[in-house]
Amino acid sequence: MRKLAFGYSTKCNISCEHCVATEDLSVGRKMDHDKAKEIIAEMAQAGVGGISFSAGEPFLYFTKIAELVKLCSQLGIYTRIVTNSFWAKTAESSDRLVSELKKNGLCQLRLSCSRWHQKNINKNNVLNAARSCQKIGLNYFISFITDFSKEDDQHEQFLRNHGLTFFPEPVIYAGRAESFKRRSILTDYQANYCDMNPYLTPDLDMYACCDAGSHFPETNFFYLGNLSDNTMEQLFTKSETDCLHNLIRTMGITNIASFTGMKAREIITYSKCELCRKLFNSPETLTRLRTEVSQLAAWSR
Ligand code: SF4
Ligand code: SF4
Repeated sequence: MRKLAFGYSTKCNISCEHCVATEDLSVGRKMDHDKAKEIIAEMAQAGVGGISFSAGEPFLYFTKIAELVKLCSQLGIYTRIVTNSFWAKTAESSDRLVSELKKNGLCQLRLSCSRWHQKNINKNNVLNAARSCQKIGLNYFISFITDFSKEDDQHEQFLRNHGLTFFPEPVIYAGRAESFKRRSILTDYQANYCDMNPYLTPDLDMYACCDAGSHFPETNFFYLGNLSDNTMEQLFTKSETDCLHNLIRTMGITNIASFTGMKAREIITYSKCELCRKLFNSPETLTRLRTEVSQLAAWSR
């Protein structure tokens, strides 16, 4: 199933130190609303079955996003909204907005939580939003973004103490977090496959990856093109027929790293997106991988 992260607007009401965006989010960029409706209809035609409203803070445009959610629901598209929960100051206000979204057909709410978000947003907001979802019957989960340091224990414990559904996610060392001191993590020698959800920006640029991949400035490896000059079908097809993109999905980034000559001992110190960046944001490595892609594809057990 084709899925897409829909960047209706990059505007955000807070400024997290770890945000992958580098621009001034207090201003942000916004998609034209009629254009957004047109694009969603085109997506349905192109077989897109799931849309995640992400980028900046979607609740800043609550009425508009609710309208887009309703349109998706009418077109049979699964919807998710990613939010920092600033709007859930009280149980009452939270219940009201969650009910409204549920009525419009929203399928899932993804609540962000981290020591960086919680410098600006009271963690009880996240609790209120999760409780509203439980009460109203809207599926939710919490993305607990962490660099696996001890400082994050209290936030994880808060989520556990309240019995909330949460999944830890490694901080992505891109955008503002690029200046963070990188931690050498020791993972298992795992494949690091990636589904690569595409991302559409408010300016209609489309990238094959919705996370760090839109911030690979040296190679622009995941950039697919602009919707003004291409159809949605063409942009999806571009990634689906790119041999290297497909090898990320099927072979995994670890095997590609090993093929390039990286030592196994070094590979296990990288998280998935960091390893991806190391390979595909390097013009030399990318040129080599493009040249040797058939050997790479044949490099299997
Ligand atoms: S991480 Fe999310 S909540 Fe934080 S500044 Fe970026 S868009 Fe806003
Ligand atoms: S591993 Fe690469 S393609 Fe996958 S989310 Fe991270 S940066 Fe994007």
